[in-house]
Amino acid sequence: MTPEPECPSCRAAQDDPTTPLFHSGCLECQARMLANSPAFFQAKKAGYITSVYNAALVPVFGTEVIAGNKRVKDWARRIEQARQLKRGQG
Ligand SMILES: [Zn+2]
Repeated sequence: MTPEPECPSCRAAQDDPTTPLFHSGCLECQARMLANSPAFFQAKKAGYITSVYNAALVPVFGTEVIAGNKRVKDWARRIEQARQLKRGQG
């Protein structure tokens, strides 16, 4: 599972993680999309991988759910940081 440097949406997300751009078929974009999903927020609140969140992870990451969850959490952190930065600038 290597990152997609050719993905224009991932390039946009490098500058702004809150970008609404997603590329279908790109794993990194799927992870970023999951970081914005209600299923992830529920799991984050619960403190564990809920069945709903797991059901969202499996089609994307298959057997790599734990690694996938790390990617999603990483994006969630970057998105949150970017949002806080934007609020600070506003
Ligand atoms: Zn991408």
